[in-house]
Amino acid sequence: MSRSEELFLQAQKTIPGGVNSPVRAFKAVGGTPVFFERALGAYVWDADGKQYIDYVQSWGPMVLGHAHPEVINTVIETAKFGLSFGAPTERETTLAEKLCNLIPNMDMVRFVSSGTEATMSAIRLARAFTKRDKIIKFEGCYHGHSDSLLIKAGSGALTLGVPSSPGVPAVLADHTLTLDYNNAEQVRECFAKLGDQIACIIVEPVVGNMNCVPPVPGFLECLREVCDQYGSLLIFDEVMTGFRVAHKGAQGHYGVNADIITLGKVIGGGMPVGAFGGRRDIMQMIAPSGPVYQAGTLSGNPVAMAAGLKTLELLEQEGFYDKLCARTTELVEGLQRLADEAGIPFTTNHVGSMFGFFFTSEKKVTNFKQVMACDIPRFNAFFHGMLARGVYLAPASYEAGFMSGAHTEQDIQATLTIAAEVFATLK
Ligand code: PMP
Repeated sequence: MSRSEELFLQAQKTIPGGVNSPVRAFKAVGGTPVFFERALGAYVWDADGKQYIDYVQSWGPMVLGHAHPEVINTVIETAKFGLSFGAPTERETTLAEKLCNLIPNMDMVRFVSSGTEATMSAIRLARAFTKRDKIIKFEGCYHGHSDSLLIKAGSGALTLGVPSSPGVPAVLADHTLTLDYNNAEQVRECFAKLGDQIACIIVEPVVGNMNCVPPVPGFLECLREVCDQYGSLLIFDEVMTGFRVAHKGAQGHYGVNADIITLGKVIGGGMPVGAFGGRRDIMQMIAPSGPVYQAGTLSGNPVAMAAGLKTLELLEQEGFYDKLCARTTELVEGLQRLADEAGIPFTTNHVGSMFGFFFTSEKKVTNFKQVMACDIPRFNAFFHGMLARGVYLAPASYEAGFMSGAHTEQDIQATLTIAAEVFATLK
């Protein structure tokens, strides 16, 4: 029995399903989850000492690669001064200023400790600002696990077949309208009927929770337009896309403005951080400057702020995003070529350093229905083939993959060599 198998058996006795976040359990792909022991740059090592090239990168935060020495050093030095104060610190303002300078349409920002808290608070704020209750989200988009947003959700909820979780009161679920991502016509129809009741649209500007699905031209623009027309707010959930698809996130990449932006993952450099921010007149409604309550014992945690600040500083290196994007393109184009050569129906998507691949005969995947129609058993066989040969991919076909600044040309080539072998086994 491998050490991971032993650890998984033991974990299941005291932790539901043996994991603290469902997708980690390998339910989608089968088999035993790999227990990690350490990570460095593009690599992770499991509890048996086996090394993998990692394309999950902690589900996005590690855009510099794991355990970047400068980030680790900052964390150690900051920790020596205390782990949490529950009082304001200068660092919070420094990180807030940095985000407001870098992220378009962000005048003010509030820090929280997870993406879930960021989106949950953003929704409450949008409801308070507009004095309306209904919200629109898109099927297959995941915005964390707060009640209003766990309706037809993506990621682990979709994988486990509980996109709308039991436990969410029906009266609350009734206020969440779920539409088809990339279907502008449907959005317009919905607003024509209910526009004056809709507080906000929340959207992953590039979806990373039903695999990777970018917006079709005009879709994000349509969302902006209807929100303006009907006095609703547009929330871009950039928890995944922020500092990932481009330095200025999806707003910068697509040139569409949101009213509220949620962030997480990269801005904490691997420490637990989330944030929501946006227009000053909206953000001023948050307590204590306004009446909309929101709080957190560990919010603005000094070590997390320091890790985030150092990470953002390192992302400013000249050409960082160009290189990251080029490596991602090289990987997905390489995979496409190998699949074509092997005669396996396959297509890919990527924006910046977020990518996805699909076992399907569709030329391009742009919506939820197409994602759901992909060949899951073939994905699972590919996943396990890669895993056995030392490449760690997201353990479910409904998840995006992530490149880091630490992945080298050799890592990409090694991955493609292994992929060629695995494709050959899938014929
Ligand atoms: N929004 C998006 C777009 C996400 O991808 C995630 C998590 N993957 C969340 C929100 C929730 O963030 P967290 O897991 O930190 O609560």
